[in-house]
Amino acid sequence: MGVHHECGVLGIYGVQDAAQLAYYALHSLQHRGQQSCGIVTFDNGEMHIMKGRGLVNEVFNQQNLKTLTGNIAIGHVRYPTTNVGGMENVQPFSFRHHTGDFALAHNGNIVNFNEIRRYQEQRGSLFQTTSDSELFAHLIKKNYSDDHRIHNILDALNILEGAFSLVVMTANRLYACRDKYGFHPLSVGRLGDGYIVASETCAFDAVGAEFLRDVEPGEVLAIDHHGLRSNRYTTECHHNMCAMEYIYFARPDSDIEGCNVHAYRKNSGKLLFKEHPVEADIVVGVPDSSLSAAIGYAEASGIPYEMGLLKSKYVARTFIQPTQELRDRGVKMKLSPVRSVVSGKRIVLIDDSIVRGTTSRQIVKMLRDAGATEVHLCIASPKYAFPCYYGIDTGTKEQLIGASNSVEQIRDFVGADSLYFLSEEAMYQAGNRTDLCAACFTGKYPTKLYGIDGKSVNNE
Ligand code: SF4
Repeated sequence: MGVHHECGVLGIYGVQDAAQLAYYALHSLQHRGQQSCGIVTFDNGEMHIMKGRGLVNEVFNQQNLKTLTGNIAIGHVRYPTTNVGGMENVQPFSFRHHTGDFALAHNGNIVNFNEIRRYQEQRGSLFQTTSDSELFAHLIKKNYSDDHRIHNILDALNILEGAFSLVVMTANRLYACRDKYGFHPLSVGRLGDGYIVASETCAFDAVGAEFLRDVEPGEVLAIDHHGLRSNRYTTECHHNMCAMEYIYFARPDSDIEGCNVHAYRKNSGKLLFKEHPVEADIVVGVPDSSLSAAIGYAEASGIPYEMGLLKSKYVARTFIQPTQELRDRGVKMKLSPVRSVVSGKRIVLIDDSIVRGTTSRQIVKMLRDAGATEVHLCIASPKYAFPCYYGIDTGTKEQLIGASNSVEQIRDFVGADSLYFLSEEAMYQAGNRTDLCAACFTGKYPTKLYGIDGKSVNNE
């Protein structure tokens, strides 16, 4: 797998020392972004901000967390997907305004960002960052009215097209917003006398919160001393959850829209065997995201599941940088074959996806060098052939091996004895779903693309 996670967002309301809990919750969302992170709190109308590059446990410690006082907090972990930029792009973003300061954090990608930003700049807006997330703030305060704060948010979201799971924090209120397509997950839970919203439910377990429900596509949830209040910024809502959240991004212990991620992957492995039964001695999964699918394949086939690849726990995630050279080095540092397990064996190797093909090629070679007699590569998703414009860094179409190569050409490139992909139907069936975004497999984008793909396309 060669794509990077997008981001993770978090909000906590009505809990003493909210930043302490935000730290643990952000830690559990670390897999969604390892390049930078931040927490912002409000205490008696005053904002406290701490952000930095690196992992959550590198940026925060018990000393600096104590400075983040207050019972309301938002947090963010980030892997940049647009306009990498510097520290100014590290979220959450905080804003000063005469009507009240506020902060926000965002996961996703706005596809009409360039158009709206240009429009705003022509009317005097001055942007501090190159991030599409800052656009929310400009739009929220565009026609600000003190009496109807929620209307300003609803109006702002209506202008934007694309993917956003967004948390907005004012001095005494938290807003949780999800785009009308529901591209990325966002759930709300009960945390003591207060509430928590997070990109994944694994954050709830980390702090002992109880899952209440998902924020619905097109919904803006206001959370304050009145409790939860639901608003809609549009009635045109869809269910286009990113299929890659199930296949690769999310943690196996998270539940997304009623489906556990581990269960989804295990089902996909079972279906993979049903569609592509291979004769072999052992089933090996590429750690970590493919282990559930490998267990499913082994269970369905009766072929023993074995730990043929070991993942080093001690490689800093910061080594996994967005350049090919560093990615290649990262694979060798991260994964090792277990020679005594794979030597002399015919292997069914299960991976979640093939994006550039270079990682798969290294893993296949690694297993052959360790003595595997055959390596049959089974991919628990369809052929990845189109770029993502909704917040996932897959690179350009030219970088995707599936975009211009047949299955046989990809097999030849990765050096496997055989190569199989899960069908599109089985991808839906694994989650008992009929409605996912699968644009990177099918090229059918749920939104208008505003020319960001180099063409003027409207796939609506
Ligand atoms: S295009 Fe692919 S990666 Fe992007 S949101 Fe859709 S399913 Fe997810």
